[in-house]
Amino acid sequence: MINYSFPLYRPPAEADNVILQATYGCSHNQCTFCSMYKTKKYQIREISDLFKDIDTLAALYPDANKVFLGDGDALSLPTEYMITVLQYLKRSFPRLSRVSVYATAQNVLEKSEEELRLLQANLLNLIYFGIETGNDGLLKKINKGVSAKQIIESLNKASAAKIKISATVILGIGGEEYTAEHIKDTAAIINASTINYLSTLQLGLENDVKERFLKCFEHFQMLNDYQILDEQKRFLELLHPVNKVIFRSNHASNALHLAGTLPKDTMRLLDEVKFALAIGERAFIPERFRGF
Ligand code: SF4
Repeated sequence: MINYSFPLYRPPAEADNVILQATYGCSHNQCTFCSMYKTKKYQIREISDLFKDIDTLAALYPDANKVFLGDGDALSLPTEYMITVLQYLKRSFPRLSRVSVYATAQNVLEKSEEELRLLQANLLNLIYFGIETGNDGLLKKINKGVSAKQIIESLNKASAAKIKISATVILGIGGEEYTAEHIKDTAAIINASTINYLSTLQLGLENDVKERFLKCFEHFQMLNDYQILDEQKRFLELLHPVNKVIFRSNHASNALHLAGTLPKDTMRLLDEVKFALAIGERAFIPERFRGF
């Protein structure tokens, strides 16, 4: 039996894979919109406890080939610790082909290029990375702890080590006041970075973070679904990724689900957004089925 520490989060794409908590919480834990780890103190788990969990999981799922290492930014772990865990995973799951983690720009920048290459060679080959916004003013307001320049640097550093990147952007995070800057500067980050997957979420604020988030803005006005889709449209129009990017907007928060490959499907995706804007709420996923 695994002693998971709850709440436990993992990316939707990891739903069918083995989940193992190497840390509890998030080492940053200060983004104003995020309530995920507010109840947890960041902690690196004893490696012997991790090995026990791996033994249990390997007995339950001997054919598993993908493992997600939680919690909020497991790339914060010391490289030596990570390599030991990755090698133990490889021995325990003979068919292992991919280990993934949530990672911050800070985590990537703290590692050397050689460390990242070593992690990749030991099957840490996918990171989930929250860009949120590319606008420096908004990055400060949401307390992301990094600048747009550092985000670009970290994405390209991970990518140079052949680690795949699944990045997320939050539509609506600048409210009405900063929507133009948010979209322009976020598209600029994507266009200057090499990423493999890109998702857009839609801002939602849990009650326990709402006050803190709003306090950092003078007059924050949440965008409605029409305004969010207008952001989605402008974002897609400005995207010119340097390589092929799998694009998804299918998070539980999204009013409209989209899926395609950029740049090949850009025009089709734009047509879908324009059609939804034209017919309005009939095209939107009802709010009762949505969450952040
Ligand atoms: S780095 Fe990620 S998990 Fe940590 S507080 Fe920010 S959004 Fe939340």
